[in-house]
Amino acid sequence: ALAATMTACGSSQKTVDVEASASSAAGNAGALIGVTMPTKSSERWIHDGDNVKQQLEALGYKVDLQYAENDIPTQVNQIENQITKGAKLLIIASIDGTALTSQLQEAADNKIPVIAYDRLIRNSPNVDYYATFDNFKVGVQQATSLLKGLGVDSGKKGPFNVELFGGSPDDNNATFFWNGAMSVLKPKIDDGTLKVKSGQTDFKQAAILRWDPATAQKRMEDILTKTYTGDAKVDGVLSPYDGLSIGILSALKSSGYGTSGQPYPVVTGQDAELASVKSIIAGEQYSTIFKDTRKLAEQTVKMADAVLKGQKPEVNNTTDYNNGNKVVPSYLLDPVIVDKDNYKEVLIGSNYYTEDQLK
Ligand code: BGC
Repeated sequence: ALAATMTACGSSQKTVDVEASASSAAGNAGALIGVTMPTKSSERWIHDGDNVKQQLEALGYKVDLQYAENDIPTQVNQIENQITKGAKLLIIASIDGTALTSQLQEAADNKIPVIAYDRLIRNSPNVDYYATFDNFKVGVQQATSLLKGLGVDSGKKGPFNVELFGGSPDDNNATFFWNGAMSVLKPKIDDGTLKVKSGQTDFKQAAILRWDPATAQKRMEDILTKTYTGDAKVDGVLSPYDGLSIGILSALKSSGYGTSGQPYPVVTGQDAELASVKSIIAGEQYSTIFKDTRKLAEQTVKMADAVLKGQKPEVNNTTDYNNGNKVVPSYLLDPVIVDKDNYKEVLIGSNYYTEDQLK
């Protein structure tokens, strides 16, 4: 339906000639930049928004920063407002990556370049650049850490009971995380080292809409009641995001896990959010994936500045991120596995957190 609408309104005709449009507007110094983030309910996006804003302002730009509490129509309105207010560039971390086609067309019609932030915006020719982390690698790391926690790395044969969670199906990253994780886990499921006792091994069964912690908690509770009857215990849970991990751990706790007799299973995560790092230190959550939002902001701000000055921004990937309409030139940063062994070095060592914050 989306493709049909696009052709009907002729939106696939042209992309913004980014460099030309920016240099013709030679007066982009001090221009307004629209920044839209999905939600404040997860810490990482607050860091992202703050970092992008500060760094753009340090270069003299004006910034309109908006959060949409995971509500798609709110984000759509925010982007439309920014176009109306005369923004010269848009930086967008989308909620539903397929829902912004007509807003991006409006941006293109107004010669406003668009940078997709962290999450790819799909089904539009009007996405000029993409700055993110290597999302497939995030999944590989989550699975690798799960195997390490289970002891498979050090030769344990299992079989281990594991359950799998995926991210929001409308977030392009979620399938990258899942595919990365499954590239490591599938061979271990096939050779019998891992057993997904619930039988729910499809992304569709595992996906959690809008990354909602309560939905993950409910799904874990259901799996525990239906599948883990008698003596069967969960040994590991693939969780793609710290917020979900918290929900999953609390379902496990209600079911009697987290005691000396029945320790928590190995639970992964993502984003190194404060509560989850504390949980790792306390021996509850096993690991997380650290994605330094300061670096993502820095790379995105460099891109934005280059585009507004009529220069070509630096990219390091021009193959992996096809948005259904074109391959979007991307800059990928490196994610890092964090567990109890290295959190000090990685998180305190880089000044992401102070020692006091983690107490
Ligand atoms: C981000 C993750 C985050 C998730 C939930 C994804 O698009 O890449 O870092 O955990 O959204 O907010």
